Amino acid sequence: MGARIIDGKTIAEAVDQEVAHDVGRLVQAYGMPPCLCVVLVGDDPASQVYVRNKGRRTQATGMISREIKLPASVSQAELESQVRALSADPDVDGILVQLPLPAGLNSDAVIACIDPAKDVDGLTEVSAGRLVLGRPGLRPCTPTGCVILAKRTLGDLTGAHVVVVGRSILVGKPAGLLFLAEDCTVTLAHSRTRDLASVCRSADILVPAVGRPEMIKAAWIRPGATVIDVGINRVDNPAKGQGATRLVGDVAYAEASEVASAITPVPGGVGPMTIACLLQNTLQAACARRGWDLG
Ligand code: NAP
Repeated sequence: MGARIIDGKTIAEAVDQEVAHDVGRLVQAYGMPPCLCVVLVGDDPASQVYVRNKGRRTQATGMISREIKLPASVSQAELESQVRALSADPDVDGILVQLPLPAGLNSDAVIACIDPAKDVDGLTEVSAGRLVLGRPGLRPCTPTGCVILAKRTLGDLTGAHVVVVGRSILVGKPAGLLFLAEDCTVTLAHSRTRDLASVCRSADILVPAVGRPEMIKAAWIRPGATVIDVGINRVDNPAKGQGATRLVGDVAYAEASEVASAITPVPGGVGPMTIACLLQNTLQAACARRGWDLG
């Protein structure tokens, strides 16, 4: 059996278009487009590429993209003061601090300076509390992207057994809570889980978010299951010459595709959805700040 490929790029483009449409409606009603401000500290090349992509896609939806670039030598106090200033700036609707921060900077303390109404990455304690309590709020982007991919592939998720592998604050835990909110039965597995292979095999929807290249083999997947692979791992690619690399997920994609009914590729699966959900969150924050209901 060849699994259906869940095309995250195409689904993300569709979400971007929906956002662009609603940005147009908001601008008609209020004049001022939503504004997303990204704070980038240091010169990590991967973060720079990611921030550039965010800026391009933000502008493509008709929103304003602002970037604040600070040197890796910035002090904790200066960084916190910049983020507090953005929280107080009436022209800014969404704030995203690009993580990870360079060594020596405390990201928890920086995130605490983000006004929860502008927390488009869904990382503040207020956003996390609202998620746990099942109240409306801004949800973390990557796990939201996983849920959208699962829903656009399978429709109603009610009653599905979802196994999330990984329990990080950024991905695993919120993914579990978001699937629970879709009335799924959720198992959160992690590095101490016993017999991980059979836990994974019990999943209708398997969501690995570990960071270990191709750890999950075909034999760990129930025939017909849906696989949403969050992992992004850079590995050597000697076939393309010395020093060449390529990206792989946490799932052994080729063999898993023979067993699953649907699977996300890496790259091109969950990755593009993260920015789409960030743009959705920025629109949501802008509407809430203007007291406007998108309907
Ligand atoms: P993380 O903070 O390092 O968390 C990894 C999780 O995996 C931990 O909960 C850990 O368990 C678990 N784990 C580690 N080894 C394991 C094993 N052998 N068996 C079972 N569980 C194991 O990583 P993260 O930030 O959640 O990211 C996970 C992956 O997603 C990475 O590859 C990252 O690059 C990718 N990612 C992708 C996107 C995207 O946009 N697509 C966004 C964010 C992250 P313990 O808690 O027990 O240590």
